[in-house]
Amino acid sequence: MEEAQLTGRIVTPHDPEYEQARINHNLSVPRFPKIIVFCQHTQDVVNALNWVREKRMPFRVRSGRHSYENFSLVNGGLIIDVSEMNRIKVDRHAMTAKIEAGAALGNVYRQLWKHGATIPAGTESSVGLVGLTLGGEAVRFFDEPGGNEPANRKRSGSFITAPLPLEAILTMKQWLAQPPNEHASLWHQSLGGAAAQIRPEETAYYYRDAIIAQEYLTRWNERGEERRNVRWIKNVRQALSPYTTGDYVNWPDRSIRNWPKAYYGENFPRLREVKTAYDPMNLFRFPQSIPPYRRRG
Ligand SMILES: Cc1cc2nc3c(=O)[nH]c(=O)nc-3n(C[C@H](O)[C@H](O)[C@H](O)COP(=O)(O)OP(=O)(O)OC[C@H]3O[C@@H](n4cnc5c(N)ncnc54)[C@H](O)[C@@H]3O)c2cc1C
Repeated sequence: MEEAQLTGRIVTPHDPEYEQARINHNLSVPRFPKIIVFCQHTQDVVNALNWVREKRMPFRVRSGRHSYENFSLVNGGLIIDVSEMNRIKVDRHAMTAKIEAGAALGNVYRQLWKHGATIPAGTESSVGLVGLTLGGEAVRFFDEPGGNEPANRKRSGSFITAPLPLEAILTMKQWLAQPPNEHASLWHQSLGGAAAQIRPEETAYYYRDAIIAQEYLTRWNERGEERRNVRWIKNVRQALSPYTTGDYVNWPDRSIRNWPKAYYGENFPRLREVKTAYDPMNLFRFPQSIPPYRRRG
C-alpha cells in the first residue's frame, strides 16, 4: 500500500511562522503541535487523516481557534486546520448557503447580507462558523472589550431555567465584590424565542427550556495570576450551582466532572449512539469528546 502524504500548507516548529500558526485565542492552555496542516482542499484533509492513522499520531481539527480549553490543539501531534477552506456560496433563490468549514462568522454575515439574508449565530467576527454550529445555537449579544484577542483566559458557564431567587442574586453580588481582577465578570444572554420552540430531543442542543445562558469569564496577564482567576471561576460556578443547570458545550470547562450530563443532558446516550455509528474507533477525540460504546466483535 502507498504511504500517505501530507498536502496543503504545512508548518512545523522549524518555520518562522510556527508561533503565529500555533497559538489559539486562549493563551493560558499552551500546546505545541509537531505539524500544522493548513488545508485548501478536501483531499488535503483526507490525506492528513490517512497520514495520522498510518503514523498513529494524535491530531485535532481546527477552524476559528476559539475553543475555550484549546481542544483544537494537541502537544506533539498534527493539527488539521481548515481555516483556509472558507468559500461561501449563496443560492438566493433556494435561500440556502454552502459554507466551507473554515469560514469565520464575520465573513459569513457579510456574504449573506449581500443577499439580504442572515443567521442567528454569534457576535465575534473571527469565531469559526463550524465551532459555533457544532456546539449549538446560543445567541450571544455582548462581549467584553478585547474579548476577541488572544489572552490568558478561563471561562465556564451554566443555564438558568427560572427567574433567580433573591439569595442567588446576593450570591452573585458577593462573588462580584471579590473578583480576582477587573476583567472577571458574569454574563447573562437571553434564550427563549425560536430556540425554545424545538424540543430538547430534536437536536444535540439540549437546554431548550433555559431562559438565560450564563457565562463566567476572566482573563489575566501574568502567569502568577492564573491560579486565583481559575479558582474564582470554579468557586462562582459552585456557589451558583443550586440555582443553575448544565453548561453550554461551546463554553467547555475541564474542571466539570460530569461534563456529559452538563453539556448534553438527557441527549448524551443518543449522541453516543451516533458517535458509535460514525466513529466506532474513536479516531476523533479530545479530553471531553463523546466516547463511542464499546461493542464486541
Ligand atoms: C471571543 C469569543 C466569542 C464567542 N462568541 C460566541 C457567540 O457569540 N455565540 C456562541 O454560541 N459561542 C460563542 N463563542 C464560543 C464558540 O462558539 C466556541 O468557542 C467554538 O467552539 C469556537 O469555534 P472555532 O471554530 O472558532 O474554534 P476551534 O478552536 O477551531 O474549534 C472548536 C472545536 O471544534 C472542533 N472543530 C473545529 N473545526 C472542526 C471541523 N471542521 N470538524 C470537526 N470539528 C472541528 C475543534 O477540534 C474544537 O473541539 C465565543 C468564543 C470566543 C472565544
